[in-house]
Amino acid sequence: MASSPFTVSQERKIVTELPGPKSKELHARRLKTVSRGAGTLVDIYMDHGSGAILVDVDGNQIIDLGCGIGVTTIGHAHPAVAAAASAQASKLTHTLFTVTPYENYLRVAEKLAEHTPGDFEKHSILVNSGAEAVENAVKIARKFTGRRAIAALDHAFHGRTNLTMAMTYRPFPERAGMGPFPGEIYSVPTSYPFRDPEGMTGVEAAERTIDYINTHIGATELAALFVEPIQGDGGIVIPAEGFFETLSAFCTANGIMFVADEIQAGIARSGAWYSIEHSGVVPDMITSAKGIAGGFPLAAVTGRADVMDSVQPGGIGGTFGGNPVSTAAALAVFKLIEDENLIGEAQRVEKAFFARIGDWAEKFSVVGEVRGKGAMFGVELVHPGTRKPNPEALTAVITHATINGVIVLDAGSWDSVLRFLPSVVISDELIDDAATVIEEALAKLSV
Ligand SMILES: *Cc1c(COP(=O)(O)O)cnc(C)c1O
Repeated sequence: MASSPFTVSQERKIVTELPGPKSKELHARRLKTVSRGAGTLVDIYMDHGSGAILVDVDGNQIIDLGCGIGVTTIGHAHPAVAAAASAQASKLTHTLFTVTPYENYLRVAEKLAEHTPGDFEKHSILVNSGAEAVENAVKIARKFTGRRAIAALDHAFHGRTNLTMAMTYRPFPERAGMGPFPGEIYSVPTSYPFRDPEGMTGVEAAERTIDYINTHIGATELAALFVEPIQGDGGIVIPAEGFFETLSAFCTANGIMFVADEIQAGIARSGAWYSIEHSGVVPDMITSAKGIAGGFPLAAVTGRADVMDSVQPGGIGGTFGGNPVSTAAALAVFKLIEDENLIGEAQRVEKAFFARIGDWAEKFSVVGEVRGKGAMFGVELVHPGTRKPNPEALTAVITHATINGVIVLDAGSWDSVLRFLPSVVISDELIDDAATVIEEALAKLSV
């Protein structure tokens, strides 16, 4: 790496029990003031970070395989992003783009047009969060097509607002008790090679999806099909080859917007700018968020100019969307990915992880499958000798990793997929060390 000025040594160092005494103190305060609904995976309170290491309030150096769900792809507190944001913060922090515009917004839209797939004019809108981007994509698709129905894939995660909860697959913990949800939202079958009938191809899975659409919704009623090219919260599910090609052709033939939700898998994470590129499909619209601004809140919908411009002025927008500081941070992120070949780094991380964890399904009976692309990995945990999901094993692995200073994520509709979304600047040594810690837990569960 040309300029990777880490301010913290890239090593795991445990100096107290985890969580440590200061974390415990903060946690006691938190229970008195913060909603229980904002549950945390790990009750370790962080103080600072650099690269792939987080340092907690007790001084423990922890390997971060989560990146706050795939946000700090370029590493924690990257100096280039910090400098861009702080320079912008003392220059101009807000005007509202739709009152008086500024150049940063245009520059981010230009970068999105440059790096999203498709050889045509693309326009963008910038908003604050992933869910807000998905909501806007729904509005735009309905406005452009004049249709109402929206389809999302089984095991999808599209957000936690009322509309995006309806598009999110599993009831727990995201939806339970918080309906009613808006109508005209449908879950349709996906391709999930580990759980589909043995040998089912991507084309066959897409035919199943299309049949479901035809018999439950009607192709002429459907405004948009939303897909995560690699499902994140669903458990790093990568559909079989041919799935997206077949669905995209069906959408094009029937005037349905094909929308790729790239909020988790986009912006270099999968070893490409956008994960749909692995299939060669060109979506009508793409949503970006998480990794786009190194931790600052920013999200976008980018799409065909005719689609994006079908909305009347004022029909989409929002007070903070495309904030000057967030866009300055995003421009620094785009520059880092371009100048430091972070897409190549994501591919290196893929190779290093698979070299280390690729044989886990053979080595550990509790592991059903290891899968991934770029810097995103899913380890599906099962009851030994079966494909039955094993959520208890996942809890045990996360607990073991946590108390030994490795942050890992959970995922999957059955809460049985161990998920890694490390920074693309993580070293091969840290990958090896983290894998060793996790193997201790897998070995105990596999006897
Ligand atoms: C995280 C995520 C969202 C929601 O983004 P927020 O910023 O949390 O609203 C939507 N879609 C996908 C694929 C995500 O991973």
